[in-house]
Amino acid sequence: MSTEFYNPEEAYSRSEIEALQLERLKATVSHCMNSGFYKARFDSIGLRPQDIRTLDDLNRIPFTTKQDLRDTYPFGIASVPLKDCTRLHSSSGTTGNPTVILHTKKDLEQWANAVARCLWMVGCRPEDVFQNTSGYGMFTGGLGFQYGAEKLGMLTVPAAAGNTLRQLKFFKDFRTTVVHAIPSYAARLYEVMCEQGIDPRRDLALRTLVIGAEPHSEDTRRRIEEMLGVKAYNSFGMSEMCGPGVAFECKEQNGLHIWEDYYIVEIVDPQTLEPVPDGEVGELVLTTINREAMPLLRYRTRDLTRILPGECACGRHHKRLDRMKGRSDDMIILKGVNIFPIQIEQILMQFQELATDYLITLQTLDDNDGMTVEVELSERFFNDDYAALQRLEKEITRQLRDEILITPKVRLVPFGSIPKAEGKAVRVKDLRKQY
Ligand code: AMP
Ligand code: ZN
Repeated sequence: MSTEFYNPEEAYSRSEIEALQLERLKATVSHCMNSGFYKARFDSIGLRPQDIRTLDDLNRIPFTTKQDLRDTYPFGIASVPLKDCTRLHSSSGTTGNPTVILHTKKDLEQWANAVARCLWMVGCRPEDVFQNTSGYGMFTGGLGFQYGAEKLGMLTVPAAAGNTLRQLKFFKDFRTTVVHAIPSYAARLYEVMCEQGIDPRRDLALRTLVIGAEPHSEDTRRRIEEMLGVKAYNSFGMSEMCGPGVAFECKEQNGLHIWEDYYIVEIVDPQTLEPVPDGEVGELVLTTINREAMPLLRYRTRDLTRILPGECACGRHHKRLDRMKGRSDDMIILKGVNIFPIQIEQILMQFQELATDYLITLQTLDDNDGMTVEVELSERFFNDDYAALQRLEKEITRQLRDEILITPKVRLVPFGSIPKAEGKAVRVKDLRKQY
């Protein structure tokens, strides 16, 4: 076995993966009969565990939604008694009940294994020093990476979120080599390094950055790599599926391998709920196949992505997801046009004159809905030539209009002037009049 692989399952062929998936799917469906929620669902459509004979039978199972989690809040979907659970996480809901996810001891071990596998895949080894800038607590990016990095055997620095000066001191003093950060915070780290006269290449030992938890474009990744002098790998996860460790880029950086010994992946049309043809964008639907406390069957993630066609040069046959296009709930509908914030980011990040922070505001003026895009000028780009700035604004506006078919008002603002969120970046403010 190559030392590139952390677990033998990573080297499985397609047929080995699918055989394991079928075995685990059958076991999961049987186990779900212990969940009051799933038992009632199966009974209502006359589905019995023995009806699942092939992987195609998965589509006989109804979808599970975030609303189901809310309706059964807090413990109604569990498939084991509470005395067998050792932790819960909950994801923040903007409306109504948050969603609660329960874990047994074994679930936590498997989760740590998945995260360790991801980190190993991008070259992390016990000699590394791993600093986690995620919030600890209910947010799974804290404890999820903590246990994964410990399992791998790295020296871990659970710095947690915020206090950027202290983060930088830790980088220096502990010779941190691997950092986990959300993309907007990675850019913030660099901003403060500049203020403090720290040159990451000269003064620090950073080598690898793990970025995830929020959508970001390929150009943003390349910029962050360039700023910090690191390789940055995209990490995808969600609390309902444990947290981080669901899908992760390998060293090829061309899509995120989704661990198919843990999950069965489907991509469906969010309206018709029918599978989309291979390679097309749709909603990611995941079935957990090795969870004890709270397996979720055909869970609608709301995240939009596609399966990348072809084989990966790294030798793993686990399917690859394209970087997330966003969540169906993040889609902006302005004057009947559907727009994803990431489309706007993709255009902005092509301009070297711009920094990485931007804010989209939707508002109603004289009964007309419109969009303003504020974007920070890069720190290195200082120009007091008003005409040149106007030309730049005009060119950005033109390219945005070509992409989103609506003409936004573009405002170039000084570096550092857009307020920074505590956790995931807030990219859209909707102040439109509601009729
Ligand atoms: P949470 O359950 O609070 O951790 O949030 C999970 C959600 O964060 C996912 O459903 C995605 O919408 C988003 N997310 C996580 N990782 C990524 C990523 N690498 N790229 C884009 N969005 C992500
Ligand atoms: Zn690969």
